[in-house]
Amino acid sequence: MILGDHLTTAIDELHLAERPVMLHASLRSFGTAVDGGADALLDALLERGCTVMTPAFTEPQFGLSAPPDMRPARNGLDYAAPSERSTCQEGLPYRVDCGLINPRLGVLPAVLIRRDGAVRGRHPLNSFAAIGPQAAELIDAQSPDDVYGPIRELADRDGRILLVGVGLDRMTALHLAEQRSGRRLFRRWARDEDGDIRTVEVGSCSGGFTQLEPLLGPLAQSAVVGASRWRAYPARQVLAAATAAIAARQGITRCPDAECVLCRHAIAGGPVVS
Ligand SMILES: [Zn+2]
Repeated sequence: MILGDHLTTAIDELHLAERPVMLHASLRSFGTAVDGGADALLDALLERGCTVMTPAFTEPQFGLSAPPDMRPARNGLDYAAPSERSTCQEGLPYRVDCGLINPRLGVLPAVLIRRDGAVRGRHPLNSFAAIGPQAAELIDAQSPDDVYGPIRELADRDGRILLVGVGLDRMTALHLAEQRSGRRLFRRWARDEDGDIRTVEVGSCSGGFTQLEPLLGPLAQSAVVGASRWRAYPARQVLAAATAAIAARQGITRCPDAECVLCRHAIAGGPVVS
C-alpha cells in the first residue's frame, strides 16, 4: 500500500513545491493500491503548494463531423472515409461546468475536474483543468484558438511536467513544441458558446514522442514510488529542446503506424489554411 508520506517524499525529491505542475499519471503504475487513490496524489501536491494541471479533453462528447464548407486539406483526416462521412451535427455547446471528460484520460483528470476550486479552460474539445494557487492564471490563457496557452503559461512560470508511471507519448506539452517547430495545428469542429459551429485547434498524434527520449531524458529528475517511476521535466527547457529537434528533423515524431494520417499530415506541416 502506497501512503501519502511516500508521495510527499517523491514530490520533495523532485523539488516540485510551490510550482505549477502539468501531471500525467497512471495509478496502475504503482503496482499496488494507493491509499486514497487519485485524491491522495492531488492532495500531496496541493499540500506542497503546487498548482496541478491536467488535460480534460472532451472530443467524444462535443466533437462534430466536418461541415462540407470547413474542410482544410492535409488536416489529419480522410474526409472520404466512412467514419468521416457522418452528417450528424447535433449536440450542445461545451461549457466549463459540463462535468464531462474523455474517459480515456483516466481517473485522475476526472477526479480533478470534480473538485471544489478546479477551473477549466474555454476550449470545447481540448480543455485543460487546474487546481491550486495559480490555476486561474494558467487556465485563463486558453481559448479555442490558443489551445496550448496554459502550457506556455506553465513554462513561463518555470513549471514542471510530471510523468507518473507513463511515457513521453502522454506528454501533451510536446504538441506545443510541434506547433513552435513550424507545424500548423489540426482543425476540428465544435459549437461555440452561442451554439454556432466553428473550427478549433487540436493536437496531433503523440505515438512517436517516445523517440524524443534520448534528447529529453537527461533533462528529467527521477524518483520511484512503489513500482512507479516518476520523472519531472522543466517545461521551458523541454519545449526548447523538443522544438529545435522537431524543426531540425520533422520525421522524428512519426509513430510506428505506417498508415497514420495524423503523423503524415503533421510532418508535412499540418492543414492548408488561408
Ligand atoms: Zn501517428
